[in-house]
Amino acid sequence: MHISSALNLIRVKLSFLVCLTLAANAAQSLAAQPAGATPNRAPLQPNAFNLLPLTSVKPRGWLLHQLQLQANGLSGHVDEFWPDLGSNSGWLGGTGESWERGPYFLDGLVPLAYLTGDERLIAKAKKWVDWTLANPQADGWIGPARNTDWWPNYVMLKVLTQYEEATGDPRVIPLMGKYFAFQAQHLSERPLKEWAIYRWHDEVLSILWLYNRTGDQSLLELARKLQVQGHNWQAQFADYPFKDKMDKSQISLATHGVNNAMGMKAGAVWWLISGAPQDRVSPDQAVAALDRFHGQPAGVFAADEHMAGRDPTQGTELCTVVEEMFSLEMDMSILGEPSLGDRLERIAYNALPGTFTPDMWGHQFDQQANQVISSLANRRWTINFADSNIFGLEPNYGCCTANLHQGWPKFVAHLWMGTPDHGLAAVAYGPSEVSSAVASGTPVSIREETDYPFRETVTLTVETARPVKFPLALRIPAWASGATVAVNGAALSGVETGQFYRVEREWQSGDRVELRFPMHIVNSHGYNNSLAVERGPLVYSLKIGESWYKIKQTGPAADWEVYPTTPWNYALVIGKDNNPNAFEVTETPVGNQPFSPEGSPVEIQVKARRLPEWQIVDDSAGPLPTSPVTSKQPVETISLIPYGAAKLRITAFPYTSD
Ligand SMILES: [Zn+2]
Repeated sequence: MHISSALNLIRVKLSFLVCLTLAANAAQSLAAQPAGATPNRAPLQPNAFNLLPLTSVKPRGWLLHQLQLQANGLSGHVDEFWPDLGSNSGWLGGTGESWERGPYFLDGLVPLAYLTGDERLIAKAKKWVDWTLANPQADGWIGPARNTDWWPNYVMLKVLTQYEEATGDPRVIPLMGKYFAFQAQHLSERPLKEWAIYRWHDEVLSILWLYNRTGDQSLLELARKLQVQGHNWQAQFADYPFKDKMDKSQISLATHGVNNAMGMKAGAVWWLISGAPQDRVSPDQAVAALDRFHGQPAGVFAADEHMAGRDPTQGTELCTVVEEMFSLEMDMSILGEPSLGDRLERIAYNALPGTFTPDMWGHQFDQQANQVISSLANRRWTINFADSNIFGLEPNYGCCTANLHQGWPKFVAHLWMGTPDHGLAAVAYGPSEVSSAVASGTPVSIREETDYPFRETVTLTVETARPVKFPLALRIPAWASGATVAVNGAALSGVETGQFYRVEREWQSGDRVELRFPMHIVNSHGYNNSLAVERGPLVYSLKIGESWYKIKQTGPAADWEVYPTTPWNYALVIGKDNNPNAFEVTETPVGNQPFSPEGSPVEIQVKARRLPEWQIVDDSAGPLPTSPVTSKQPVETISLIPYGAAKLRITAFPYTSD
């Protein structure tokens, strides 16, 4: 027997035992073989790619370590000392916080626990989920009795679907069915209000999840009722009305950043039910509108916490980052557009890590692309407070403290999806292993070995009990010109960027697919004709010396200000021909904290000149000079590191041609 096959068997046996122990009170039937995807049931439209059950994709390599950092940081401990997630939470039967924070926490904790297999976290997650499963009201209502808002339950339903996939707990499906029946009965007299109006499609995801398992037609009726009462996001994105930074008098729930991030999946989700061609509008339309009016170099849009324009000193809320990622993951499943994977990676590998401390114990509420001081000071936010860009436990407001946990684990869970013709699709890249049933129900696993996004190569190794024919769809990023795909050393032809490249053959154990995505340095133009330096999925920022000052300690978590110790006001010297040879790339091994200035696995040297007139204004980098600029200062060599590693940074650079 192949050594890795033997290891796989041991792994399957171990996880079998773990599941048995954990769900001893749940009479679940555990298949010894990995389950495949659940396709959409008629009359729903088919997904481009079907979601695989949670735990089908496991992190490996640096990505496993990143999830372990998260588990050992705030995500694994916040409930031990933050009252809103403490033992008095309404979601544990107490009299405390009874709205969105418990469900938000679990929406990340459940996938983090089951993807890392961390017993301590699994026990924590189970305690919360058990309370909801054991304490429904007689009429079907779930969660704290004192909550009367439909919205937090949307999140709890997402939690339950993930938990059911990981454990097979038989209590989940009947409880969801009863809750939806209750809602269908009462939605007319108790219509959606406020947040629930703008986030209706998040509940529809759970309704469709259940429909695909039970076929209960009344669920589709409920989804239609929600759509009628819900906000029309397709209309908003089709002709985007909020084109500038919002004045306080202009704000509404339609200008709210997190709502917009969630709304980016509304059109695709609704199309599954309506089937109307006019509803199948690409989320690219939403991405393009948000880029045009509020776009930021790390792939997100500015909203602090309402739409804030393109100035790179405006903020992007962490909830917006993780919700846009989740929307793109759902959009990818439904529509299968390769550009969605490019955008997902850009956010996951830049904006997400860039707003955490390297150890994932602290986070910001608002991150800035040009972030030269992180401190208690009133900045030019639309409505946020003075502590919004410090790193800590609960800057500005605690929603992000509760909601940040879903970013990494859901990204890992959605790296791979199932093709409708019983194959597998790599929709985003990162070190991982996918195990699934493919054609004829044959179980296979594919090990993805890579230091992507820090390196250009990805190696996939297939393990299968017997030779099996199935398609493998590989996303070729739009930026990867010259990309190559080889199977067992033989290069394949017809590889094109911005496409899914399909390899359909009879696969045998040990077959290897080697992908190479050349990471050319590209300058993209942004606000005031500034330049952002990109290389593959990573955006690069000026490495600024950082001095961290602790300003508060709460249990094991600290709040920090960060001050610059080196100059930041540089213009890039790029030469008249925009010549990328001016850049020199240095690679070092991927270490324990790749998203830290010291641990950055890639550094780019480039020529620059200081711009003395560009100074601090309102505790942020002053107005960005329009490029090209002129400077008589001497040419220096500066270092750029990945955006996610630079906690102070310039990302949108002015430039000079000489
Ligand atoms: Zn938030």
